[in-house]
Amino acid sequence: MQQIVHDVLILGTGLAGLRAAIGMNLRTRGNIDIGLVSKVQVMRSHSVCAEGGTGAVMRPEEGDSLELHAWDTVKGSDFLGDQDVVDRFVSKSPDEIRLLDHWGVPWSRRPDGRIMQRPFGGHTFPRACMAADKTGFFEMQALYDTLQKFSRFSRYDEGFITSLLLEQGRFAGLTMYDAPTGEFVLLRAKALLIASGGLGNLFGFTTYSQTVTGDGQAIAYRAGLALEDPEFLQFHPTGLVPSGILMTEGCRGEGGYLRNSRGERFMEKYAPKMMELAPRDIVSRSEMTEILEGRGFQGPDGLDYVHLDLTHLGAERINKRLPLIREVCIKFLGLDPITQMIPIRPVAHYSMGGVEAGIDGRTKVENIWAAGEVACHSLHGANRLGCNSTAECLVWGGITGDEIGKYILAGGQLSDAPVRQAEQEENRVFSGLLRRDGSESVAAIRRDLQSTMDQHAGVYRTGESMREGLAKIASLKDRFQRVRVDDKSHIYNTNLIQTLETENMLELAEVLLYAAQAREESRGGHARTDFPARDDVKFLAHSMIYYTGRTPRLEYKPVAITNWKPVERKY
Ligand SMILES: Cc1cc2nc3c(=O)[nH]c(=O)nc-3n(C[C@H](O)[C@H](O)[C@H](O)COP(=O)(O)OP(=O)(O)OC[C@H]3O[C@@H](n4cnc5c(N)ncnc54)[C@H](O)[C@@H]3O)c2cc1C
Repeated sequence: MQQIVHDVLILGTGLAGLRAAIGMNLRTRGNIDIGLVSKVQVMRSHSVCAEGGTGAVMRPEEGDSLELHAWDTVKGSDFLGDQDVVDRFVSKSPDEIRLLDHWGVPWSRRPDGRIMQRPFGGHTFPRACMAADKTGFFEMQALYDTLQKFSRFSRYDEGFITSLLLEQGRFAGLTMYDAPTGEFVLLRAKALLIASGGLGNLFGFTTYSQTVTGDGQAIAYRAGLALEDPEFLQFHPTGLVPSGILMTEGCRGEGGYLRNSRGERFMEKYAPKMMELAPRDIVSRSEMTEILEGRGFQGPDGLDYVHLDLTHLGAERINKRLPLIREVCIKFLGLDPITQMIPIRPVAHYSMGGVEAGIDGRTKVENIWAAGEVACHSLHGANRLGCNSTAECLVWGGITGDEIGKYILAGGQLSDAPVRQAEQEENRVFSGLLRRDGSESVAAIRRDLQSTMDQHAGVYRTGESMREGLAKIASLKDRFQRVRVDDKSHIYNTNLIQTLETENMLELAEVLLYAAQAREESRGGHARTDFPARDDVKFLAHSMIYYTGRTPRLEYKPVAITNWKPVERKY
C-alpha cells in the first residue's frame, strides 16, 4: 500500500481546515509540510453554503461589548456552554473579521464605509458581519487565496478517509480511499487536525449538502475518542418546504416576519421581546406548536409549514441584502419573495456536539486536534446562536493552526507506521464491503435512517419515541450487514463512498438517540414533552459517549461556570 508522509494532516478543507492551514504557516513562517484532505474539491466543502454572517463585536463605541456577546452566547446555550471557552471565543472573533478583511472578503459596508452588521437571533446587538447572503462563499475564497502564498501543502481532493489509526495511544495515520485513482493509501503525519464538519444528513429534512455525513465524528469515535453532547442537534426555524434549503436567519435579521395560517405574527406569544429574533430552539418550537395546534398550512409529505414574510421589506433591500434567497425561491418554487410569502418549517441544521476537544482544540490524544463543526469545545452548549459557527471555525481554525505549528516546531515526532492496521482496513473495504453481495440496497437503508431520525429525534422528543428510534437503528445496523455494493469497480466508486458514509451515519444516529433518551430534561435544542423542564441538579453536565463495539458507554462531565449562574431563559 502506498504511504505518504507529511508534517501535518488536515482532514477537511472547510473554513476551519483552511484557516488552520494558514495559522500553522504563520506560526512556522511557511516551514511546515501540510497534507489537505477533502472528500470533495476544496471549494465544495459545506462552508461555501454559509449565508447570513459571522458574529463578532465590532462596535464597542456604539454600545456592544465582549461581555454582552459572551452573555448572549451563554444564555443561548441554555447554560451548557463552557464559560471560559465562550470568553476566549468572543475576545478572538473580532480579530478574525479584521484578518478576513485584510485577506480580501468583500464585506457588505455601511454608508460610512465601515463593515455592516445585521441583527441575528439571540444576539442583543447586530453582530453578523456579512457579504450579502453569500458570506461563507467569500470567506472560503479569501482563505484559499491567502493559502496560495505558502507553497508547502499538498491537496488530496476526492480522497475519502475511512479510518483513524493510533499506535501506542498516539495518532499514527489515516487510511484514504483515493477515488480518482481507485487506490487505498496510508497517510502519516506528526499531527492531525480533524476539521471534517457536521452530520446534517442524519436527517432527511436538512439544510446540509449531501456530503455532510459525520465521517470525522464516526472515525474518531471508533478510534476511542469521546463524542460530547451529541444529543444537541439544532433545528433552524426557516427551512424551505419541501427541499429544506436554508432561508438564512438574515431574512429575519433584515426584518422578516413569521406568520401562521391566520396571518398572525405568532412569536408575540412565545418571545414578546425578541419576537422573530429569539434563539433558534425557541423559534423552532414555537413554529411546531403552531403547526401541531392547527395554525399551519398543509404541506407535501407531511411537511406542514408556516410563512416567512419578507413582502414589507421592499425590492431594493431584498435584492441587495438577500439576493440568494430571492434566487432560490424563484428557481425552486417559482415564487418571488418581494411579493409572496415563503413556506418554511424547522429543519435539521447544526450539531452542537462533536469530538471532545479542550479550549486549545486539543483532544485527549496528544497529537490530534479538532476544530469547526466536528469539534465540541463546548462553546454552543445546548443551542448555538446564529452566526457563531463560522466565527467558531475561524477562531479555532486559528488557535489549532497556531498550536499545531508550535507542536511541530518543538519537535513533534512521527509514530510508527500502522501498516498492519491499514492493510486490515483495506481488506475490510475492498475485500469485504465492496465484494459483498447482500440483499439490501444502501440507498434504502439511508432513506430509512433519515426518516427514523426525522420521526424520533425531532424538535419535540419523548423517551418512548427515542427508544423506538434506537430499536429501528439497531435493525438498520443489522440490515447493513447484508448491504450490497452494486458498483464493483475501484475507480471513482460513489456507491462505495455512500456505503461507507451510511455506515458512519448509523453509528452516529445510535449515539445521538442514546445520549438523548438518557437526558431526562429539556434544555436548548433537546426538548422533551415527558420532561419539559430543565434539570440543573441532574443534568447541568456534558454527555460523553464512548465506543465499546456494543452499547455505547455514557458518562457526564461538569460544565465550566465562571461568571454566570444558570437562570430562567426569557426573551
Ligand atoms: C446552508 C447553510 C448555511 C449556513 N449559514 C451559516 C451562517 O450564515 N453563519 C454561521 O455562522 N454558520 C452558518 N452555517 C453553519 C456553518 O456554515 C458550518 O457549521 C461550518 O461552515 C462548518 O465548517 P467546517 O470547516 O467545520 O466544515 P465543512 O465546511 O463542512 O467542511 C468539512 C470538510 O471535511 C471534509 N470531509 C468530511 N468527511 C470526510 C472524509 N471522510 N474524508 C475526507 N474528507 C472529509 C469535506 O470534504 C470538507 O472539506 C450554515 C450551514 C449551512 C448548511
